[in-house]
Amino acid sequence: IEQSAYQNDKLAMLGKIAAAIAHEIRNPLTSIRGFIQLLKPHLTQLGKEEYSRIILTEIDRANDIIYEFLNSSKPSAPMKQKVLINSLLKEVILLSDSEALMKGCQIHLETYDEDLSTSIDVKQVKQVILNIVRNAMDAIDELGGERSGRIDIITRRDGKDAEITIRDNGKGMDVVTKSKLFDPFFTTKAAGTGLGLSVSYRIVRNHGGKIRVSSSSGEGTEFNIYLPLAE
Ligand code: ADP
Repeated sequence: IEQSAYQNDKLAMLGKIAAAIAHEIRNPLTSIRGFIQLLKPHLTQLGKEEYSRIILTEIDRANDIIYEFLNSSKPSAPMKQKVLINSLLKEVILLSDSEALMKGCQIHLETYDEDLSTSIDVKQVKQVILNIVRNAMDAIDELGGERSGRIDIITRRDGKDAEITIRDNGKGMDVVTKSKLFDPFFTTKAAGTGLGLSVSYRIVRNHGGKIRVSSSSGEGTEFNIYLPLAE
């Protein structure tokens, strides 16, 4: 009986996720359809380029939703290896550099312990850090150049954990956003999937770590990620 209750639970959950996916994918599909209809022969070259760009962006968005969904629905067990967390962070910063430039922010890495060695799934943890750094860049971007954007990444040892702080001076969050930000599909962005943080949360939990957030509306946000140090 327990087994079938579990199966029912799983089915109900799958149904919910499928409905949410269908709902999410419908938005980009609708705008792709609309812009293709606008691609008439008499359109100027500039118009065509602009619409094509939007169509491509929307296709990418549909792709992202599916990709992130597949990733989140299959929380694969972490394939751990010993990694210096600071070198992983440097790689993520390098990856984010061009986007940071576009969104008008600078990323600084400050470390109180160069040799923090963690036992982690590199791909998964990279995804977590990228998600959080991207959100920070978005939060700065959404201020529209009101102040110069700054993201500080700080690492230190905290007992048996490596603590990674990611702090931005972006738009911050109100109380409602803060209470929902780890919910799957919760997003305040026009082109968001709302999956980044729910996936990140799950990955960190699978590593036996934790994530904390503090934020104040209009001022900025700080994420603290704790990952167990390697033996
Ligand atoms: P998405 O980025 O697709 O919206 P996420 O799960 O990554 O999905 O984030 C959920 C929501 O949490 C965002 O839409 C945003 O409102 C809020 N959020 C996350 N990080 C930040 C941040 N650094 N500053 C302000 N708001 C944030």
